Amino acid sequence: MDYKLRMRELIKQINEHNYNYYILDNPTISDAEYDKLLDELMLLEKQNNFVFDDSPSKRVGAEVISNFEKEPHKVPLYSLDKRQSIDELKVWYDDIMSKYPDTKFSFEYKFDGLTITILYENGIFKKAMTRGNGIIGEVVTNQVKTIKSIPLSIPFKQTVIVQGEAIMLKSELEKYNKNNPEPLKNVRNAAAGAIRNLNPQVTKERNLDMYFYAVPYIEDDSIHSQQEVFEFLKQNKFKVHSYNKIVDNFDEITKLINKVDKEKEKIDILIDGIVLKINDFNTCKELGHTSRFPKFAIAYKFAPQELTSKVLDVKFQVGRTGKITPLAIIEPIFLSGATIQRATLNNYSDIKRKKIKINSYVYVRRSNEVIPEIMGIASDTAESKEIEMPSVCPSCGQPLKQEDIETFCTNYWGCPAQIKKRIVHYCSKDAMNIEGVSEKTIDAFYNEFSIRYPYQLYDLTKNDLLQLEKFKDKKTNNVYENIQNSKNPTLEKFIYALGIRNIGKKTAKDLAKYFKTFENFKNATFEQLVEVEDIAEITAQSIVDFFADKKNLENLDELKKRDVVVQESKNNGTGIFEGKTFVLTGTLDNYTREQATFEIESRGGKVTSSVSKNTDYLLAGESVGSKYDKAMSLGVKIIDENEFVNMIK
Ligand SMILES: [Zn+2]
Repeated sequence: MDYKLRMRELIKQINEHNYNYYILDNPTISDAEYDKLLDELMLLEKQNNFVFDDSPSKRVGAEVISNFEKEPHKVPLYSLDKRQSIDELKVWYDDIMSKYPDTKFSFEYKFDGLTITILYENGIFKKAMTRGNGIIGEVVTNQVKTIKSIPLSIPFKQTVIVQGEAIMLKSELEKYNKNNPEPLKNVRNAAAGAIRNLNPQVTKERNLDMYFYAVPYIEDDSIHSQQEVFEFLKQNKFKVHSYNKIVDNFDEITKLINKVDKEKEKIDILIDGIVLKINDFNTCKELGHTSRFPKFAIAYKFAPQELTSKVLDVKFQVGRTGKITPLAIIEPIFLSGATIQRATLNNYSDIKRKKIKINSYVYVRRSNEVIPEIMGIASDTAESKEIEMPSVCPSCGQPLKQEDIETFCTNYWGCPAQIKKRIVHYCSKDAMNIEGVSEKTIDAFYNEFSIRYPYQLYDLTKNDLLQLEKFKDKKTNNVYENIQNSKNPTLEKFIYALGIRNIGKKTAKDLAKYFKTFENFKNATFEQLVEVEDIAEITAQSIVDFFADKKNLENLDELKKRDVVVQESKNNGTGIFEGKTFVLTGTLDNYTREQATFEIESRGGKVTSSVSKNTDYLLAGESVGSKYDKAMSLGVKIIDENEFVNMIK
C-alpha cells in the first residue's frame, strides 16, 4: 500500500480516538493500542521523511475542549519520549553517559492520572491548569482546589508554577464503583473526568489526590537540580511520593525497574511505568529538546495490563454455593505474559451496569494473581446483542432465585454442578489438601461411583480407582493414600473444607482460633457466632443454616464413622512463644511460610508482616529482603532456620 494512504488512515484513526478520549471522555481503545497507532505513524514519517501538516505527531498532545476557559501556559509543558524495553532504555542512557559521564538520574514513578500545573503568587494558590496540548491548557482552578492534599497557601512568596499528577487511588475507585450505578472504567479516566467536570462538587466527591514532581517556573531561578525540585516541593508542603531515588548506574536502574514492575499491583496508585530525569539542570539545558520531547528525561512504560477484546459469548457457571457467575468468552488477547480467552463478569447486575453485550468490544484487565476481569464497554458493533440471563440453572434446570445482586440455584442437594464443586473444594489445597484429585477426577467419581458427599471419598477402594481412565498403579496408589491420609485435618482447614457459604480461609481461621474444637463450633448459637471478631451476621446465619441441614449432619456423622478426626486448635496462646512476635523473611528449606506461621502460632506466638521495635525475632531464610536491614538497624534478634528448629524441638 502507498505509505501516504496508510498515514492518512492512521491520522484519521488517531484523531478519532483523541476526540473520544479528550472530548467525550469515552475512550474506545486502550492506551497500548493508541500508542501502537502513533508509533506506526511516527515510524512511517521517519522512514519516508514526510510529515502531513495535520499529523498528531506535530502537536505535543490533543486539542482542548471548548467548555473550559483556555489559556496558554507560561512555560510550555513537554511530554516525555518513551521506551518499552530495557535495551532501548540502555541506548538512551549510554548516549547521555558518553557525553556526560558523571550524570546522576532521578528515578520516579510514572503516575497514570491527569497532569496539572498550579500557579502560586505571593504564596497563594492562584490558578490550576490542565496540560492540554502542552502549549494551551484549560483553567480548572476550582476543581483542583477541591483536592484536599494541595496547599492553598505556601511559604514561598515569589511567583512559582508547580506540576504534578491528579490521581484517584485504586481503593477509592473500588469504593466509588460499589455504590454507583454508573461505574468508572479505571482510575485514570476517573481522575480526568473528575477534574474536567464543570461542577467542582463532582470533583470533590471523587476524592482525588495529587503528587507533585516538577517546577516548570520559579521567579528567583533558585532550583538547579531535580533533587532540589523535590526539596522545594516538600518544603512548601506539596505531596511528593516517597519512592523517588537518585541513581547513577544502569544496573541499579534495571533492578529498580524490575522491582517496581513486580510490586506495582500492590500499590494503591496506578503506575504505568517509571520516569528517568537527569538530575543536574545545567546538563538538561545543554542537552535541550527534540521537536517534540526533552532529551534529558524519558519514560519507561510497563507492558500493558489492560487491552480491548471482543465478547464472543457468555456462559453461566454454577458455583459450589449455587451462585451463578457469568463468564465471557473473548477473542484471544495476549496480556501480561499470557493468552486470555475468558474473563469474569461477576454477576448479571454487573453486565447491565457495565452495558456489556455479545459482539461488543470491552476492556479486559489482568492483575497478577486474579482472573481476568471485564472492566467496561469500549464500543458496540452492528452485531451487538443483549446478554440474556437464563431463567433456570444451566446444570440442573431448576428455577433460579435472585438475592440482592446475585443469582442462585437453590437446589443444593440436587444440582450436579454444586455437588461436584463442593467436593472439588473439599479436596483443594487450602482445605483437606488431597493431591491428585482434579476437577476431572471428581467428574468421574460423580458419574462412575455416584459420589455425592465428601465422606464417600473414603469408601473408594484401589480397585474402584483402577477402573478410571488414566488411573494406572502409581496414580491409583497416590490418590488412594492421599485420600486416606487426609483424615486428621486442622480445625481451620476442616471448617474451610465444608464449603459453608461466606466462609473463606480467613474466616475459617478466625473461627478455629475462637472455638478451638469442632464440637464447640458446631454447637455455637447465632449469638455466640456474632461475638467472634470479624464475623458478620450474614456469615453467622450461613453457619446456623448449614448445621440445620440434616444432610450436612449426616455427612459429618459418616465422616466420623470413617475416622475423620479434626484436630483441636492449638492456637491457644500458651507455649514457648507466648507473647513473642515474629517476622518472616526469605525462604526456608523445610517450611513454607504457612507452616512456619503455624509452628509459631501453635506455640502461642504471633507473626506480623513488618519489622518494628516490638518485633522479638526475625526468622531469616535464603535471599532476605529489606526486613533484614530494618531488623539489623533496630537491634531485633535475627535467627536462622537451624536456630528456629532448635527452639521448637
Ligand atoms: Zn442447579
